[in-house]
Amino acid sequence: MTTTNVKAYGTEAADAALKEMVIPRREVLAKDVEIEILYCGVCHSDLHMARNDWGASAYPVVVGHEIVGKVISTGSSVTKCKAGDTVAVGCMVDSCRTCSPCKEDLEQYCQQGFTGTYNSPDKHLNLQTYGGYSEKIVVDEHFVLTVPSNLDLAAVAPVLCAGITTWSPLRHWKVKKGDKVAVVGLGGLGHMALKLANALGAEVTLFSRSASKTEEAKSLGAHEVVISTDEAQMQKVQGKFSLIIDTVPYVHDLNPYIGTLQTDGTLVLVGYLGPQTDILNTFPLVWSRKSIAGSLIGGIAETQELLNFCGEHNIVSEIEIIKMQDINQAYERMLKSDVRYRFVIDMASLKG
Ligand code: NAP
Ligand code: ZN
Ligand code: ZN
Repeated sequence: MTTTNVKAYGTEAADAALKEMVIPRREVLAKDVEIEILYCGVCHSDLHMARNDWGASAYPVVVGHEIVGKVISTGSSVTKCKAGDTVAVGCMVDSCRTCSPCKEDLEQYCQQGFTGTYNSPDKHLNLQTYGGYSEKIVVDEHFVLTVPSNLDLAAVAPVLCAGITTWSPLRHWKVKKGDKVAVVGLGGLGHMALKLANALGAEVTLFSRSASKTEEAKSLGAHEVVISTDEAQMQKVQGKFSLIIDTVPYVHDLNPYIGTLQTDGTLVLVGYLGPQTDILNTFPLVWSRKSIAGSLIGGIAETQELLNFCGEHNIVSEIEIIKMQDINQAYERMLKSDVRYRFVIDMASLKG
């Protein structure tokens, strides 16, 4: 298959810095959309993958799955968009389309495994997929989303992962006006969760370790902030929440949060992936029919639903725009929870 070389930023090893490299993009097939990438959000998952935190990174790794861009060209049977349109691509670029989760618009739970925007076996080239830290991408139209015209193009990028990852549990657990919802961790995912839960009419609480984020959290949609290391503050919210969305990226003790769930309440883990070390006390789970659940991004139809909701409610991410060349410093700041609240790369910086 014919390929075109494009500029990208990636890494050759878990302990190596990201640097400029060249990657191939496939020719535009009948159902493909060729996109010039304008902006790409920086997700904590990008950092996990670049540094092999999940043990599955195949190098070279080119990450980035919060992509907003302009259509350059389309294949002969594409109907969803045309050259010049503003479009977006999130965490997936393919799936089997035939299994029951795929048929139910839950491509993220494809029984064959969805094709991730990065670090997945590429179905067309004998390579891993390469993500949005690059000039261009070629994606099947099913996985291309439409961006409402009123939204800022850089600030809407994080909706494609941070947004949908928190929206999907809010919708699955049917959050409605007046429900008491809590969010753990105020980073990229956490700040979108505050905005979205607030827009759905929930009474929203943030659990954070960072007292310095209190006022900002309130401006983002939190009605209350609980400092999770303060025992007295934690006591005050015992038995309060019907849903807690936990975005913390590293091992942490879940037991204190379970105490703050109502009977029938659910703690949804979206941040950390892997074994927990603290022993889970099942007593409160059994005694009050509480659940611990997980949730992975969201399907394509649900992501479009969210983009449309963001258009109607004028919701975008709080962002700090960076140049591609600043990505290594951005990762260091992300590790210190020093991001307010999402870095977005201006991809014009890669072209210069
Ligand atoms: P982020 O911007 O770095 O935010 C994470 C927040 O968690 C921090 O701002 C901090 O908030 C809190 N935190 C960090 N380290 C902590 C620790 N050791 N203990 C307790 N709290 C801690 O990251 P993100 O981009 O939102 O991503 C969060 C996680 O979600 C990552 O692990 C990412 O891989 C994962 N993710 C999952 C999915 C999915 O589909 N399930 C999708 C996207 C991302 P405070 O300062 O407020 O405490
Ligand atoms: Zn992500
Ligand atoms: Zn499938």
